[in-house]
Amino acid sequence: YKIDLEGLVSLCKRRGFVFPSGEIYGGYNGFFDYGPLGAELKNNLKRMWWRKMVHCRDDVIGLDSSIVTTPSVHQASGHVDNFSDPMVDCTESKKRFRADQLMWAKVELEDGTSAGYVSMVEDGNVEVALKKAAKKLIKQKKIEGGFKELEIKDMTDATEEEVKLIPSPATGLPGSLTGARAFNLMFETYVGPYSDGASKSYLRPETAQGIFVNFKTVTYVMRQKIPFGIAQIGKAFRNEITPRQFLFRSREFEQMEIEYFIDPEADFKAIQEEWIMEMWNFLKAVGLKESLLDREVHEGEKLAHYARACTDIVFTYPFGTQELLGVAARGEYDLQQHAQASGESLEYQVPGQKRKFVPHVIEPSCGVDRLFLALLCSAYDEDEIDGEKRSLLRFHPCVAPITCAIFPLLKNKPPLVEKAKGLAAMLRSSGFNVLYDEAGTIGKRYRRMDEVGTPFCCTIDFDTLEDDTVTIRRRDDPLKVERKKREDIGAFLMKECQ
Ligand code: ATP
Repeated sequence: YKIDLEGLVSLCKRRGFVFPSGEIYGGYNGFFDYGPLGAELKNNLKRMWWRKMVHCRDDVIGLDSSIVTTPSVHQASGHVDNFSDPMVDCTESKKRFRADQLMWAKVELEDGTSAGYVSMVEDGNVEVALKKAAKKLIKQKKIEGGFKELEIKDMTDATEEEVKLIPSPATGLPGSLTGARAFNLMFETYVGPYSDGASKSYLRPETAQGIFVNFKTVTYVMRQKIPFGIAQIGKAFRNEITPRQFLFRSREFEQMEIEYFIDPEADFKAIQEEWIMEMWNFLKAVGLKESLLDREVHEGEKLAHYARACTDIVFTYPFGTQELLGVAARGEYDLQQHAQASGESLEYQVPGQKRKFVPHVIEPSCGVDRLFLALLCSAYDEDEIDGEKRSLLRFHPCVAPITCAIFPLLKNKPPLVEKAKGLAAMLRSSGFNVLYDEAGTIGKRYRRMDEVGTPFCCTIDFDTLEDDTVTIRRRDDPLKVERKKREDIGAFLMKECQ
């Protein structure tokens, strides 16, 4: 990677993509504001997903359910009782850590003594954590040489006794960590004028439950036949113990989810595979480099108790390879839970048959912000112009915040300015986000556009006044400047944005 996480954070701020939330007050951990260019990029991603998953398929329809709903929904889904992460407290520093991000390592040192240590797993890599811990120990004990690994596990499994032996990651003092306990990640809120148990509700931690509770109504009013899916894009909130890695793990984020309802007797593995491929192709279509993508199958303990199968599509971020989206086969778990708790039958009646069943579901679930971050990582590039290093973003035209920039060659020639403004207005009315820019040399204007990932620039020059053609310059092939009829630019952009 040519850029690390710190570099990305600062690039996002400098270029108007993402700012810390409430920055004039020092920011707010786990919350972000999308700036003018970030808002465009994010909207384009969501629009592309909706187009490919809902409009281009005749078996998926959309929904937009509320963020706060009756707490019965999250009770029935299991979120009130079980949606938690294991947390350990540092009694000295009063800091809290996610237990599965702290590795407990016991090593034997060259001097024959053994010792335990904990350290944060920054990129999910246990080896790195162990080496880091052992190095710290060796330094602390001022001994020469290496170490032998005795035992390593995450803090979720460490006993109280083991925990007591090790110094806290925050203060270095031994015995200052508690054992792991469950911390519920849902944000609580109170609905109405009284703040008591009866008015307590939650900000949804996923959009999926809004789909399940609407399953029956949607099926009926839209006359859907199984298999079919309901798609939703919307905000979700999780009170993450340690929000980190920028947009990757935040406390407010957006999800794009589909619940695809299938016959319990259908081959769920085959349908899951189709959805994995659908997601993979979508990621490619919005411009992610395929070489940075991979699959990870959940097995054994990693597989949630209600799931029959789950495959993640993982992305290699600068901080490691991590989950970008998941495609889970959730069986009938969710609909069954809601049927039992509400007393409503959520069975599907097969048309023209006596047969009824509670459908099973396949759930592709993608985080918009994780995809946004992946796209920035994938698009980031550097090159040299006249010995000067510069960075640019190679976004696919279908998601680029600005699709095309329009320049008059000279700003003090009214006929050029008029034609350029006319072209910008025409493209805007055709639905493109274009930018009109007349400041500085053409070279500088090109460079400014390369920096924010604009794929095309059109220049109106003196020839335009003669034959109504304009130059088109491509960000990714800057030497091949073409001339096109001004009236054909809209159709050209439309084709490139497919
Ligand atoms: P993780 O294991 O990383 O916490 P998860 O498996 O809990 O994620 P899911 O519950 O499957 O995540 O949520 C579906 C998708 O929502 C994830 O694939 C991810 O893209 C996104 N997502 C989940 N939590 C966050 C978060 N805190 N910040 C940003 N995106 C998130």
